[in-house]
Amino acid sequence: MPPPPRVRFAPSPTGYLHVGGARTALFNWLYARHSGGQLVLRIEDTDRERSTEAHTRVILDGLSWLGITWDEGPLFQGEYGPRHQADAERLLAEGKAYRCFCTREELEAQRASAGNAGGSFRYDRRCYRIPAEEAAARAAAGVPSTIRFLLRDEELAWDDAVHGRISFQGRDLDDFVILRSDDTAIYNLAVVSDDIAMRITHVIRGDDHISNTPKQIALYRALGHQPPVFAHVPMILGPDGKKLSKRHGATAVGDYQEQGILPTAMRNFLALLGWSPGGDREILPEADMIELFTLEGIQKKAAVFDATKLEWMNGQYLSTLPAQELVAPVRRQLERMGISADGDLAPLIDAVKARSRTILHVAGQVAVRLDPSRPPLDPKGEALIRKMGPAFSTNLQRAADALDGVEPAGWTPERLLDLLKRVAEQHGLKLGDAMQPIRVALTGSTVSEPVNELLAVVGRERSIRRIREVAHRWNGGGPPA
Ligand code: GLU
Repeated sequence: MPPPPRVRFAPSPTGYLHVGGARTALFNWLYARHSGGQLVLRIEDTDRERSTEAHTRVILDGLSWLGITWDEGPLFQGEYGPRHQADAERLLAEGKAYRCFCTREELEAQRASAGNAGGSFRYDRRCYRIPAEEAAARAAAGVPSTIRFLLRDEELAWDDAVHGRISFQGRDLDDFVILRSDDTAIYNLAVVSDDIAMRITHVIRGDDHISNTPKQIALYRALGHQPPVFAHVPMILGPDGKKLSKRHGATAVGDYQEQGILPTAMRNFLALLGWSPGGDREILPEADMIELFTLEGIQKKAAVFDATKLEWMNGQYLSTLPAQELVAPVRRQLERMGISADGDLAPLIDAVKARSRTILHVAGQVAVRLDPSRPPLDPKGEALIRKMGPAFSTNLQRAADALDGVEPAGWTPERLLDLLKRVAEQHGLKLGDAMQPIRVALTGSTVSEPVNELLAVVGRERSIRRIREVAHRWNGGGPPA
């Protein structure tokens, strides 16, 4: 039996956790959990100038928030410099790599004379022609040099688990540098050296790495190891078909956390960016996602990030979550809004969560119900006031008068519903024309829980006071056009 798969997520801590990175991490996690394998977390911090501990922290926090757990690590690539260097020197000793003494300026000049300043050019191997002993002597004398990999003219192909057969020819690639003059490894060597040492069996990463893969395969062969299975997952695009970027809105996982997206919803949404469980299932609890995940289910074509769908999905998760689980995040959000809420928030949350798409939205709705003195009027509320004209105010007054007659003990959703029906009947109103103004008065919007429940949640005194205030304000009909 083959050993269980070992996969890795290898972010560079040079920025926040991008949704694309999170999706790569998620696919690795799903694959590991599906196959009974292991996930290694490797922080690729070799870019000393741009890597920071703060970024590492943000990445780890983002993964934890999403519920992505790893079995080994975080390991830090920066600690494996000696092994990278030893691998490069082994290739050198075996004649599979050579020292290059060309300076940056010389390379620039070669590039310019190749007629492609600034663009890509193929190194002409001039340093390969320096006899090995001479090169060793120069290096020993302290002349700075890099180590370049000697690419043979061979087919460098693999069966990509997503894209099928992909093939490159060695002669079309450059003798790439593997070790800098300061003895630090270039990305391709560091990754291959680490993936070998960490016994990685499957490399699941973004499509943008396809051009690195032939070089990495050449390195595996030169180092005497079997390459892993590669699965290159499709890019994520914005709705306009361009690569997802800040122009399209938030791209950091942390931003979605801030916006009140639930981690379960975010994870479900990310899983469907480029993967499909088959059929048209959209809401996938963790266990189903793990059970159904396969590399074959990953699509070749780019995925489109649809923020509206994310909100919809979040709404689905919100509505099924017990209110109790939302109390803490809603309270935190209320505190940020400068509203202290000491009482039991669960009934209020229960009243609004089915119609809310994010925690921020829930908190906003709860805030209005805690203090309905100044709900912001939304466009639908405003349109209703305009449409009803003077009836808006008159109907509110009628409702307030009737509500005034309700004993505090009778302020229950059932009794309030009876009462509102009676008010409508008495004045020959459609039920909606009696109810909607109350809804707008208390929430600023035409969308809320049933009006009788809303009144119950807001409470007797506050409801009546607010309804009278609003009736008074709009007395004379409609907001100014
Ligand atoms: N550190 C690389 C990146 O963030 C990892 C690439 C790989 O998975 O090989 O793009």
